[in-house]
Amino acid sequence: MSFKNQIQRRRTFGIISHPDAGKTTLTEKLLLFGGAIQEAGAVKNNKIKKGATSDFMEIERQRGISVATSVLAFIYKDKKINILDTPGHKDFAEDTFRTLTAVDSVIVVIDVAKGVEEQTEKLVEVCRMRKIPMIVFINKMDREGRDAFDLLDEVEQKLGLKVVPLSFPIGMGYDFKGIYNIYEKNINLFRGDNKKKIEDTIAFNDIESPELEKIIGEKAANELRDDLELISGVYPDFDKELYLKAEQQPVFFGSALNNFGVRELLDCFIAIAPTPQPKMAEERLVQANETELSGFVFKIHANMDPKHRDRLAFVKIVSGTFEKNKPYLHVRQGKKMKFSSPNAFFAEKKEIVDISYPGDIVGLHDTGNFKIGDTLTEGEILHYKGIPSFSPEHFRYINNADPLKSKQLNKGIDQLMDEGVAQLFTLELNNRKIIGTVGALQFEVIQYRLEHEYGAKCSYENFPVYKACWIEAKDPKSEEFKEFKRVKQKFLAKDKRKQLVFLADSQFSLQMTQQKYPNVKLHFTSEFN
Ligand code: GDP
Repeated sequence: MSFKNQIQRRRTFGIISHPDAGKTTLTEKLLLFGGAIQEAGAVKNNKIKKGATSDFMEIERQRGISVATSVLAFIYKDKKINILDTPGHKDFAEDTFRTLTAVDSVIVVIDVAKGVEEQTEKLVEVCRMRKIPMIVFINKMDREGRDAFDLLDEVEQKLGLKVVPLSFPIGMGYDFKGIYNIYEKNINLFRGDNKKKIEDTIAFNDIESPELEKIIGEKAANELRDDLELISGVYPDFDKELYLKAEQQPVFFGSALNNFGVRELLDCFIAIAPTPQPKMAEERLVQANETELSGFVFKIHANMDPKHRDRLAFVKIVSGTFEKNKPYLHVRQGKKMKFSSPNAFFAEKKEIVDISYPGDIVGLHDTGNFKIGDTLTEGEILHYKGIPSFSPEHFRYINNADPLKSKQLNKGIDQLMDEGVAQLFTLELNNRKIIGTVGALQFEVIQYRLEHEYGAKCSYENFPVYKACWIEAKDPKSEEFKEFKRVKQKFLAKDKRKQLVFLADSQFSLQMTQQKYPNVKLHFTSEFN
């Protein structure tokens, strides 16, 4: 197959949702269509269970699973589909934000009874800002839930989307009869039989036909006709171009658990979802069909096996092909590297491959060369944008609790930060180290992993910080900036890229600082150009 066709057949996406909406179940059903797995239960749920905060085994279990489910790939109707896992737990939101830099589109799963939940809002906001095309799947239609029109309103209002229903439920919960597929113009009857893999559908071009009564009964037929009339009156027609520009979001209804409505979703997805997209580097826009390789690291995962301390760096291929044993330039380090065993992902397994294409993810064994955001090319100097650090929510001093192991501790901290587990800030004043995290859970993960993987012990000490702000001085030589640095010395630190950061201890002090030093710009993310 030609290089162009290989690109055309690829669809790389992420599924986002609030925990429990049905992401894992949907993923598993999608894989069934690819014939990639044989049975239900093969996709591991990588959720942190409630109350597991102090259960270290749970953290280990979680890490093992998240390697297994980082990338799930399958072939369906000759399309190569790559699903990137996005943790739903809020303490891992930063991981999800980074993964979203590597997808070309997303599917948003919403629970019909719970509607739009907190994590969905946060993640959709990121996708909206980045103009990532989205399809919405309203799940659990076999349960009593909210009125479909109310829910569509909520999706528009809370998520700021412009929805177009491409399927519509006939009844709900106990009365759920099936789905009218507006996109394909057919009816899919619900039989509540979750063993069925491919559903029977009845083609139905003319919903005015009296046949409709025969199939779903008079009451449901009338309701469906009214609903469809309302839909065509209220919602615009589906427009693929608008979807691709993230200005319109098609909606499907179904029940992942019953494998119902999933085939419709998948068939529409492969027809409309974007092929591997161009990506903006600091230097220029890079097209997928350029023949020279470029790609970037969006995730790093430590090896679970204590005998093999190496890590797996996940690289999204933006352009060209990635080939085994070919030398590529590690742009940040300025050196060429070869990889003898690049991993590709298929279903829930990984295997060594000779060649990968744009849209694919390769897993590279790494002994500490990579950081998140690193770029690989065939020689061109490129830096991919869009993997900023966000201000953490929690901050603590990290202290060495075993003076004989300070080397191990420093190495451990460095490597965990490269993986993106948390962010490290080093105070300008006294070089003390501060760890910043999105959730409190990460402090325990770090402590546990430092001990078990690096043989180092740490303790924490509170450090009251409201927000970390990345500093941009309009004129670094100005008196104003010099004064700012002198007066605020206690609150200045360097991040891992040696960028200067102001650690504001309260919202008030942040506001005062902004007023007093108007030419010192303070940003909540590390990427502001
Ligand atoms: P995740 O946290 O988003 O990955 O959610 P899961 O896929 O683990 O699903 C959460 C719970 O909802 C599980 O108990 C699933 O069995 C259940 N579930 C998922 N889809 C459906 C559905 O369509 N109908 C019903 N009734 N339950 C579902």
